[in-house]
Amino acid sequence: MNPRDPALDGELDTPRSARPVPTQAHSPGGRIEVVCGSMFSGKTEELIRRVKRALYGRQKVQAFKPRIDDRYDATRIVSHGSIAIEAVPVATSESLLRRVEDGTQVIAIDEAQFFDRGIVEVCDELANQGRRVILAGLDQDYLGRPFPPMPDLMAIAEEVTKVRAVCTVCGGSASHSQRIIQQASTVLVGGSECYEARCRGCFRPRDVRPGEA
Ligand code: ADP
Ligand code: MG
Ligand code: ZN
Repeated sequence: MNPRDPALDGELDTPRSARPVPTQAHSPGGRIEVVCGSMFSGKTEELIRRVKRALYGRQKVQAFKPRIDDRYDATRIVSHGSIAIEAVPVATSESLLRRVEDGTQVIAIDEAQFFDRGIVEVCDELANQGRRVILAGLDQDYLGRPFPPMPDLMAIAEEVTKVRAVCTVCGGSASHSQRIIQQASTVLVGGSECYEARCRGCFRPRDVRPGEA
């Protein structure tokens, strides 16, 4: 892109200071943490570990998951290693925001990649209110493409942790989710019957066309 393109001038010339700023001061202490990686990389385990530590610290915690993900349990977040915490399933980011109670200090959100784009603003708002927001989610889809809205969440987060699985082919450090069944949709909720953790070298993205088997 040519930065001097006159069509973009207005946009590029708007100084940050000229953009609308929030009228209310943000409460201190709020932050966004993102835990991301491939399938089986321990995202949910890490989310649960952070939640348990917050509970030990007598903090008020609320956990949420997208309603789409009912692989294991409708009202719990469950890891592949079978550790679990209670969670409220919500269909949209708006519904999540509505359910956050006064006094909640920590908000944990699993499978963040399955939320609508509004989750970015919702997390920002919750952190601005002084709350700690911890999200876990896939950074890439089954073709290795950034999985929205994770890139935006990673951009606004104070802290991003990338976790790694073990490559099922070579035993190396896995960053990709290999779909092992033929299905073309980006969203295919499943476990080891549908996906394998693979390193970059062993990952074979396959763009399957609908109807192909
Ligand atoms: P994620 O939320 O990232 O999908 P989980 O936290 O649910 O991962 O599960 C991580 C657990 O999955 C590990 O502790 C381990 O017991 C199990 N597991 C299964 N396959 C693998 C693998 N290929 N690499 C690492 N862990 C695996
Ligand atoms: Mg998980
Ligand atoms: Zn490998």
